[in-house]
Amino acid sequence: MTKNRGDAMHEPEDKLLFQHKNAADVMGKTETEAADTYAEGYIGFLNRAKTEREAVTEAIRMAQGKAFVPWRQGMSFAADAGGTAARVYVNQRGKAVIFCVRGKRPLSEGISIISSHIDSPRLDLKMRPLYEEAGMAYLDTHYYGGIKTYQWTGIPLALHGYIVRKDGSGVPVCIGEEREDPVLFIADLLPHLAKTQMERPGKELVKAEDLDVLAGLRSFPGASGEGRIKRNILRILHEKYHITEEDLISAELSVVPAFPARDLGLDRSMVGGYGQDDKVCVYPALTALFAAEAPEYTACVVLADKEETGSLGMTGMQGAFFSNFIEDLAESSGEKARVILSQSFCLSADVNTAYYPLYPEVFDPHGEAALNHGVILFRYWGRGGKENTNDAQAETVANLRRILDDAGVLWQTGEGGQVDAESSGTLSRFFAALDIPTVDLGVPLLSMHSPFEAAAKADLYMAHRAFAAFFTRPGQ
Ligand code: MN
Ligand code: MN
Repeated sequence: MTKNRGDAMHEPEDKLLFQHKNAADVMGKTETEAADTYAEGYIGFLNRAKTEREAVTEAIRMAQGKAFVPWRQGMSFAADAGGTAARVYVNQRGKAVIFCVRGKRPLSEGISIISSHIDSPRLDLKMRPLYEEAGMAYLDTHYYGGIKTYQWTGIPLALHGYIVRKDGSGVPVCIGEEREDPVLFIADLLPHLAKTQMERPGKELVKAEDLDVLAGLRSFPGASGEGRIKRNILRILHEKYHITEEDLISAELSVVPAFPARDLGLDRSMVGGYGQDDKVCVYPALTALFAAEAPEYTACVVLADKEETGSLGMTGMQGAFFSNFIEDLAESSGEKARVILSQSFCLSADVNTAYYPLYPEVFDPHGEAALNHGVILFRYWGRGGKENTNDAQAETVANLRRILDDAGVLWQTGEGGQVDAESSGTLSRFFAALDIPTVDLGVPLLSMHSPFEAAAKADLYMAHRAFAAFFTRPGQ
């Protein structure tokens, strides 16, 4: 039933119209069940990949048994020659990763790229986070990415991250995910005393500097006086991780929601959970790549860090790791990197907003995407007069339309909010800057950047089908 939905339209006048279709109307029982099964794997992924380091580890784990080998400079990369690598990955310092499957055609005919980001908004611990006040120990935070501060109070929080000791040895941290683990939390003011607080503008309702995590009340055994509560927390961290307070300076510790992702809605039509921006695109990009056996074009998934803070740094998309990899591939095949890039095709797979009728004032009433209406194709998403955006070229968009329709994928367009109401960006501009035709295709989310975001299972499943169709498209 999913073969070319356009065939179902018999009336010539219907062919003149482009209409968003609701999965509730067009997805049959079999396909809905397939979407439900697919979402189970996704929920497991979300729960194991709350930070970018965990996402890299989990993605490489998913690739196990699928013949991927770590890329080494000078390696040959060919589909047919015995003993050479046809499926490789690049682990970029544990926080970004590239997976690449050799296609049948020469690299000079271009590669198919899907890029998504594996970082999500959260609260990072400061370098000297631990302090004691009024008999309570706190962990001081600095938020990462765009958050509404008030959403982070009064919910169970977990501590995830990585500490590197002075001798270079590292230790992963995860507290608050197991049933027997304690969780953390940020206290809010009781409504009885919040009269003045509630009159403050939303941005100042909870000041960013007040997002301090309550860590404990008990004192160091036998100690008395100021500092005994803080020292007791350090004792616990030392017992568990063999670290001192100074080691927290060379640590990446993040506070994230402690609750797991799960089915959402009485009809189980959605997935609710933290970090779906952008893991709701990351997971289908990976499953689509891992399912691509011998694609016509070389297929590549790039999972980047630091998108939420501007894509800077060694693991962000403005870093050199992707270009360096393409240089390596070019060298191994005797091609020119710039030829490979300009012949390639990139889908920037990131989330976009869905229309929500309780807040009609921020949405375009005619052009907005809707939850449960399939993947969103969007050409631009920036601010003001199309600043900060790729604004995909018409030829690129037409190519994608053909791929989606040929595969019978349910898709729609989205504006990402009213003109001048929106302020956002995706990775597409960084790929376009390398002279790669690039367009955005992602999944609609509700409550984006909140501790508990919602995606429709139908849209998630359509992302997998769209990405699979992209990677396995026939040559032109
Ligand atoms: Mn995003
Ligand atoms: Mn985001």
